[in-house]
Amino acid sequence: MNYRTDKYGNKLSVLGFGCMRFPKNPDETEKLFDEALAAGINYFDTAYMYSGNEAALGRLLEKKGAREKVNVATKIPPFMCRNRADFDRIFGKQLDRLKTDYIDYYLIHMLNGPEQWRELCEAGAKEWIAEKKERGQIRQIGFSFHGEQGAFIKLIDAYDWEFCLIQYSYLDVNNQAGLKGLRHAASKGVPVFVMEPLRGGLLADKLPLEAEKIFKGVNPSASSASWALRWLWNHGEITLLLSGMKSAGQIRENAATADYAAENAFTERETDAVERVAAVFKASDRIPCTGCRYCMPCPAGVNIPECFSAYNDSRSFGKVSGIAQYIRNTGAMISKKGSAGSCVKCGKCSPRCPQGISVEAELKTVRKRMEPLWFRAGMPIVRRFTGGGRRKRGST
Ligand code: SF4
Ligand code: SF4
Repeated sequence: MNYRTDKYGNKLSVLGFGCMRFPKNPDETEKLFDEALAAGINYFDTAYMYSGNEAALGRLLEKKGAREKVNVATKIPPFMCRNRADFDRIFGKQLDRLKTDYIDYYLIHMLNGPEQWRELCEAGAKEWIAEKKERGQIRQIGFSFHGEQGAFIKLIDAYDWEFCLIQYSYLDVNNQAGLKGLRHAASKGVPVFVMEPLRGGLLADKLPLEAEKIFKGVNPSASSASWALRWLWNHGEITLLLSGMKSAGQIRENAATADYAAENAFTERETDAVERVAAVFKASDRIPCTGCRYCMPCPAGVNIPECFSAYNDSRSFGKVSGIAQYIRNTGAMISKKGSAGSCVKCGKCSPRCPQGISVEAELKTVRKRMEPLWFRAGMPIVRRFTGGGRRKRGST
């Protein structure tokens, strides 16, 4: 494992673990945690809003006696903080869940603009942070960001941040904070951590065939994921990146890439290949969903991330297998409930999406492709024979 030292002298593994996608099964989670420690990962990121996630990490830290060996990062939801009492209540819960009495890297979650920061300051954020730092309960203070570039630059200038967490990948050079934001933060001496380096897996194993060919033409043995990660570590401005690894194999692969990735190591040919892949990807009509589930739950029961995942897979692996996945994962044929057609256009989801996806509009696109006419015609018949996904009277 390679390590980079932030300006406060903390030695951080260049590969951090994004815990948001921890499996539901605690045994599987434990295996991943063990694998991550064995690989030398010493940074684990969670959030108050990731259901059950802080508690799962806390249990593992305690069970493995790992608290002092790793850095714990967690996030406070600004929309729940109206005054000092709110900050205290949430922070106290987080310490309990994580079974610790301090947080190494504490973030304001999705702080997307200076106006939001001003409101937090009015609620007493600056004084509260100063107090927690004074007591050693917060070691470094930062924020995570999914807004526009101009807002990011203003936020960086608005406070003495000790780090920040931005979405960045070769698809994000001109998106959200972007390259300009990354360089601005670095020029101000703010260490930059990166999330969604693989865009929720889209850049790992779901590249368009044409894009894969470009990478293979330059290096036949390197995986698409390793290209995306190496490209990021090539930037000296980036301290570490978070990957939400879901299997021991993914941890091993990413850690192996982290072993040899270095800054300014990309050749001109490699840089050119990445730029061409980004152009192919952008032209490939994927929905930029990372599967973060911030838009969920949908009151009408639409399984939004699965609808988008099946749609994207249909673009990568063909329509037939995409539709099969769509039926399997959304219950489209049987109950309709999770499918795109169940959307009642309540408008709750889009404002919660960090990728700025217009969910209602994209669900229409999904429906058009994934529910062709023959499919819609067959739905009522299948439902008749299956009870429409509803339990029959008297059944158990
Ligand atoms: S707009 Fe549609 S998909 Fe979004 S939350 Fe409302 S019903 Fe669900
Ligand atoms: S639609 Fe947006 S909020 Fe929902 S899972 Fe995808 S990226 Fe996340």
